[in-house]
Amino acid sequence: MSTVEIRVVGWCAWHQDAADDVRVIQVDEQGSGRGGVRYACGPCRKRHKLVPLVEQELPRRGPAATAVEACAGLLILMPGMFPLMTAGQREGRNCPWCNEPVDTETGVDLGERHLDRAQTVIHPRACRPCAHREATSSFAHHCRMCERCRQDEYCPDKMPLRRLAIETRS
Ligand SMILES: [Zn+2]
Ligand SMILES: [Zn+2]
Ligand SMILES: [Zn+2]
Repeated sequence: MSTVEIRVVGWCAWHQDAADDVRVIQVDEQGSGRGGVRYACGPCRKRHKLVPLVEQELPRRGPAATAVEACAGLLILMPGMFPLMTAGQREGRNCPWCNEPVDTETGVDLGERHLDRAQTVIHPRACRPCAHREATSSFAHHCRMCERCRQDEYCPDKMPLRRLAIETRS
């Protein structure tokens, strides 16, 4: 074969090995892996019927939550925060970072998060300044961890985070 292809190699969390063409499938708050982000390769996506996070149909809550916002919110990492969160923060009534009261109008939807180990579901919502700060830092984190981004390839997984960081800029 004569065609030269740029191979994007990442870590597939499903077959636990380096793989081509990995995509972000989920963000795991409690996971230790690569910054709590789980990637899957093409064959594993097919075998396990996995849909990349940015292409998933996500449940929306409230008029302010667009599909993009819900999806970008899910890409914001919240490592180790769950045990310290109040009921209000877990249920989206207070910002998980500054505890400011938020609602569907004023808050940024961080998506429904299934915490398998704690066997619970949380649906946090952030105030806009915190959402901006966290989206910016998760975006920087993604760019460091993602092989596609490190090689300056087009990366569909980072676009919603980037958009959210821009949208929430004050
Ligand atoms: Zn795989
Ligand atoms: Zn806040
Ligand atoms: Zn990327």
